[in-house]
Amino acid sequence: MNDDNIYSLKITLVGESTVGKSSIIYQFINKTFLENSFATIGCDKFSKTIKIKNNKILLNLWDSAGQERFKSLSPMFLKGSNIVILVYDITNAESFEKLENYWINVVKDNTENIILGIAGNKIDLYEKEKVNEEIGRKFAEKENGFFFNVSAKNYQSIEILIIQLATLYYDKYGFENDLKEYSFLTYDLISQDNNSFHNQSKFKNKKSCCN
Ligand code: GDP
Ligand code: MG
Repeated sequence: MNDDNIYSLKITLVGESTVGKSSIIYQFINKTFLENSFATIGCDKFSKTIKIKNNKILLNLWDSAGQERFKSLSPMFLKGSNIVILVYDITNAESFEKLENYWINVVKDNTENIILGIAGNKIDLYEKEKVNEEIGRKFAEKENGFFFNVSAKNYQSIEILIIQLATLYYDKYGFENDLKEYSFLTYDLISQDNNSFHNQSKFKNKKSCCN
């Protein structure tokens, strides 16, 4: 392993508003669930470094942060994604239907060579389930994606989602071929983004950080 290099993966979360995209990212970064999460402004990026098979990987998780409400993701949002996670809420049938008839097409039109994850979120509310797990799995199969049952309240389920998708990416595409290598100096600068969830107010006047 070369300790001087670090590879990066861009991971974008896509789906209807309130399905839990921001909560999933927040849980992965901070190991905490926010009970009443706030609407975020503009899109935002959160970073965390992990190790896969002796490679250091900088995971950049992009949160569409409200743009999805207007069905208008910035072109920059999906561009260059390595992993896209389509998220629906298992207690909300419409959130799944919108993946099938809208969001999957947006992803297909704006990405290439990705690993696709389908995440049925809020499984802690299984007694209110409206979308049967089998339906989610079939959709993932049809789209050559990978299905996950998750709850943003449960760190482990979120860790499995992200780490397995990153590992699948590694297995399919490798890291050396087409990903940028970052020096540690660059990494240190990027890693400051981890704090941006705690500094939401600084984005208040920004229409979007994607443009
Ligand atoms: P986003 O619009 O897709 O980013 O959704 P948010 O992350 O803002 O979540 C919307 C609401 O659902 C918030 O009140 C969250 O606390 C709640 N929520 C998100 N994930 C879960 C989950 O796994 N279980 C439960 N019970 N609530 C969740
Ligand atoms: Mg959000």
